Amino acid sequence: MDSQKKFKPGFSCEFFPPKTEKGRASLAATIEELSKLGPGYFSCTYGAGGTTQEGTYETVRDIVARGFQAAPHITCIGSTRQKITNLLSSYQQLGINKIVALRGDLPEGSDTAGEFKYAHELVAFIRKQTGDHFHIEVAAYPEKHPEAVSLQQDIGNFKIKVDAGANAAITQYFFNRDAYFRFVDDCEASKIELPIVPGIMPITNYKQLMSFSQGCGAEIPRWILTRLEHFADDLSSIRAFGLEVVSELCAQLLAEGAPGLHFYTLNKSDSTVALWHNLGLTT
Ligand code: FAD
Repeated sequence: MDSQKKFKPGFSCEFFPPKTEKGRASLAATIEELSKLGPGYFSCTYGAGGTTQEGTYETVRDIVARGFQAAPHITCIGSTRQKITNLLSSYQQLGINKIVALRGDLPEGSDTAGEFKYAHELVAFIRKQTGDHFHIEVAAYPEKHPEAVSLQQDIGNFKIKVDAGANAAITQYFFNRDAYFRFVDDCEASKIELPIVPGIMPITNYKQLMSFSQGCGAEIPRWILTRLEHFADDLSSIRAFGLEVVSELCAQLLAEGAPGLHFYTLNKSDSTVALWHNLGLTT
């Protein structure tokens, strides 16, 4: 973990683009609440293969209009160099200088891979087109990306992506702090030198958490599952337990030198605000 201690901790919050008027109003209220905490930036996800893409631009534009720093996610699978060039140019015009660059996953049934195969190609393309204009964040997987044959192979691929020009990484969420510490140590041994910020998923809803975790390969430890199953539909007990578990995880990560936290807010402010206060983070 020593290599991470030299980086100044940064705190950020992630949203997804709302699809309805009600969702937009709710996100506006969430941004208002979270902005009081003073995070470094707000990021907004981007659907691979055509979904929610306009929504990302609109959400990012709204965040900027409110006077906050926004980092759009960009996925490359199924896309073309021309489309990415246009997107980068529209974000430059908006004054954006931070981007989360990802491969994305093609929607089921879609077989159009487009002109990019992996995220490192997107990172290299952004650097080629825009030089040092963008600070580029990429994804990292302390518990291994689901498609990778082994963690070692995944770390080798992660290094290619970092060497293509990434400035920092945000991890997939995890509940096992040792997975993160070991991953960071392995990266250090592979001469990967950039901040690797833990992605933090609040625990608020058992079914939703199960479904997300199955999709992205994040492990929910058995002792957490057992308690969540016991709480069944008792949402307030799930929230209280989740807050305690995730606060403890975040505190341990920061105490050991993690260079900040990236909160997956799911467009709600309550859990992130509560975690922020429990951790005594200052603005
Ligand atoms: P890559 O880095 O390309 O890796 C994908 C897989 O390919 C890995 O298994 C890797 O080991 C392998 N690989 C990489 N390079 C090579 C190579 N040269 N040869 C062989 N194998 C290789 N998805 C969205 O659709 N929209 C979002 O906004 C979004 N935001 C995210 C934010 C964060 C912080 C994270 C952690 C994930 C996000 N995702 C998002 C999910 C992400 O798109 C998926 O996890 C996707 O499957 C992989 O994306 P990547 O950028 O990590 O891909």
